[in-house]
Amino acid sequence: MTLDHAAIAGQPDGSDLDNRRITVRCPADGQVVGEVEALGADEVAVVCDQLRAAQPAWEALGPRGRSAHLLRWLDWLLDNERRLLTLVQRETGKSWADASLEMSVAVDVINYFTSNAETFLQDRNVKPAGPANAVRRLRVQARPYPLVGLITPWNGPLAGPMMDVVGALVAGAAVVSKPSEVTPLTWREVVRGWREEIGAPPVLAAVTGGGATGQAVVDTVDMVMFTGSVRTGRAIAVRCAQRLIPCSLELGGKDAMIVLADADLERAAKAAVWGAMTNSGQACISVERVYVESPVYDRFVELVTDQVAALRQGTDAPGSYTTDIGAMVTGAQLDIVADHVADAVANGARVLTGGQRAEGNCFQPTVLVDVDHSMRCMREETFGPTLPIMRVADEDEAIALANDSEYGLSSSLWTSDRARADRLSRRIEAGSVSVNNALVATFQLPIPMGGWKSSGMGARFGGAHGVLKYCRQQSVVEEKFSLKSEPLWYPVVPAKSRFMSRAVRFLGAHDWRRKLGLRGRD
Ligand code: NAD
Repeated sequence: MTLDHAAIAGQPDGSDLDNRRITVRCPADGQVVGEVEALGADEVAVVCDQLRAAQPAWEALGPRGRSAHLLRWLDWLLDNERRLLTLVQRETGKSWADASLEMSVAVDVINYFTSNAETFLQDRNVKPAGPANAVRRLRVQARPYPLVGLITPWNGPLAGPMMDVVGALVAGAAVVSKPSEVTPLTWREVVRGWREEIGAPPVLAAVTGGGATGQAVVDTVDMVMFTGSVRTGRAIAVRCAQRLIPCSLELGGKDAMIVLADADLERAAKAAVWGAMTNSGQACISVERVYVESPVYDRFVELVTDQVAALRQGTDAPGSYTTDIGAMVTGAQLDIVADHVADAVANGARVLTGGQRAEGNCFQPTVLVDVDHSMRCMREETFGPTLPIMRVADEDEAIALANDSEYGLSSSLWTSDRARADRLSRRIEAGSVSVNNALVATFQLPIPMGGWKSSGMGARFGGAHGVLKYCRQQSVVEEKFSLKSEPLWYPVVPAKSRFMSRAVRFLGAHDWRRKLGLRGRD
């Protein structure tokens, strides 16, 4: 079947915006799933004005009042779970199992941030520094950026925006979200639920469109939370620098898995397969390359290959859970995966299973061996169901190869020696390290998830940070006593000023000669 993927993703650079409609097709069968409008900059500006007008009342509700709306939203999401996940599946071609994971992310994130909102946003009372300030009370309070722009990619139409929108709303910000033009339907519906079904304040909107709509968001908001490619992230960072607004960037990855000879090999092999294949490899933190110590390499490859060959592929019926992995979301991504495999094979790699395109916009789950760092599959983000495995002599070679990458998002280390894991984790250049598991370090809401090197700037989650990143710190200094005047205020009086100067010296110096001015007063 030939699919019209240009119709799915026609607007990445805004060049196609004369045609104001974006047709969304299911990548698995090419059927039209829906249509959205590509909004222009003027329309984005109108939406943003409305959000700004509603934001002060939202902030005034306080964390508890805001959380109540988010929890009603959660109820609505669960009441509509099957319908929403069917939409996720239709616009992505995912397996039902992969689509279902998106709801669990939404549930976890909403519950975590609402139950901790008051603690995270508490004013911070601080002890003053220096004797002259003893008469003051110091407080730091978190005040939200009025309008946060949230721009997301196509690999998780529900989970992607949900990971960040909750922290921003809990913080008291209004949010204009721009889902991917490839998969805008689920998020548009989820935002409609917020506005029309649960009657929450109009502080959340979805603006649909391609790159030009995203640019209009960046040009209008007070802070940008972006998830997507390095290329777009860099362009957004430049624009944000010009506007002097902050941005937080979650970008691509090329995550390494290191399997040492003392690892539980069966567990490591199962994790490698799941970590590389979940969501058909279309996850920023998926296992993209594996380095295995020589003594266990052959056995590891054998275990992995058997399991990958047994994976069931295709877009199964809603609720059926009958396939392991589904389609690629776009034709363009399918081409990248096929190119990486072809490049590896042309340069001497062997395909042990898979290696071909398959029906329904799929790429067969693939194991590659005899790979090296001259190949694209070991250097560039593949974002597909491939697992290249490389033999290494020892841990030093594994670490050197893992770090030989422009990316540094996540990683995993496999060993039964805790001290060794601790030591090696400190040598890996990546924002997170899972020890004896894959991907899990990314979804621990109390700790930060952020990329090093080209994988990003800033982090999401991280306990209070996941809310405070959407806030500006405001320092409030209050006088304990109201005197008629202060020693520093005008007029300058010689006696008063000399006394002040002596007092500073007496209280600030560390030895009696200096305190009493017997030294250094010239
Ligand atoms: P993309 O960068 O092409 O698009 C992402 C979003 O940015 C889309 O909504 C798009 O319309 C918008 N956009 C495009 N140009 C823009 C511009 N100039 N200004 C503002 N917005 C613009 O990425 P993609 O292809 O949709 O997603 C795949 C990428 O996302 C992969 O690299 C993947 O690793 C990454 N990703 C990262 C994470 C993470 O948390 N680190 C999570 C998921 C995906």
